[in-house]
Amino acid sequence: MRKPLVVANWKMNLDLKSGPALARDVADGLRRLDSHANVDVAVCPPATMLTTIAQVLSGTGVAVGAQDAYFEPGGAFTGEVSAAMVRETGATYLIVGHSERRHTIGHLEDDRIINLKLRAAQHAGLLPILCVGETLGERQAGQTLDVLTFQLTAGLVGARLTGADDLVVAYEPVWAIGTGLNATAEQAQEAHRHLRNELTRLIGPLADAIRILYGGSLKPDNADSLLAQPDVDGGLVGGASLKAESFLGIIRAAIGTRAK
Ligand code: PEP
Repeated sequence: MRKPLVVANWKMNLDLKSGPALARDVADGLRRLDSHANVDVAVCPPATMLTTIAQVLSGTGVAVGAQDAYFEPGGAFTGEVSAAMVRETGATYLIVGHSERRHTIGHLEDDRIINLKLRAAQHAGLLPILCVGETLGERQAGQTLDVLTFQLTAGLVGARLTGADDLVVAYEPVWAIGTGLNATAEQAQEAHRHLRNELTRLIGPLADAIRILYGGSLKPDNADSLLAQPDVDGGLVGGASLKAESFLGIIRAAIGTRAK
């Protein structure tokens, strides 16, 4: 049985006043939802807020994650933070391979770097959320499933894969992130089913325990149909996670889907 997981990616938004206020509103709202024990929730603020948000959310059941960390354990890497430093803040999740880090931000991370970050996360005691997804050009060229196979396989080289506490995967079609254009429920299910089959190829029946999240313009009004798909186990939410009401709307939809 896979318990749904809903993760907020605040990206480079909010500040030390609005961030903690939003975290409190999410925790309060979650407590008031029926059956809130049936969902896992995490928020991923900018690195500067990790310690503060972890303190605000301590004891609420809402976990904290970081949006990135460097793969080296320490040394002369100006501007970077290590996975162990992230863990020290109280965070327990780490997003790796987000499409903005693969395609938009300066270094244009490749699958080798992403794999090193994933392994560093596991080594530091963080649960990595490995993001994979095709660009619009790749989808139009019929390459979606091949891209997913490649990014998943490359991302997991040498990783520990013994169950749900080792890995979360997020399917995030690049063309759907921050665009207002979400994948259809059928497109999402096809991609998630493929990822689960590939996980089964890699780790056998344990693949059934791994949660695969959908991300890409997820909102309260499209969450019911997307999250109800048999291989969609929750969401990674950008824009709609910046308001408690819309993020809680997605959490409510996740609770409404049966545990899979
Ligand atoms: C994301 O940042 O992972 C994301 C899915 O963003 P959005 O929900 O805004 O598309």
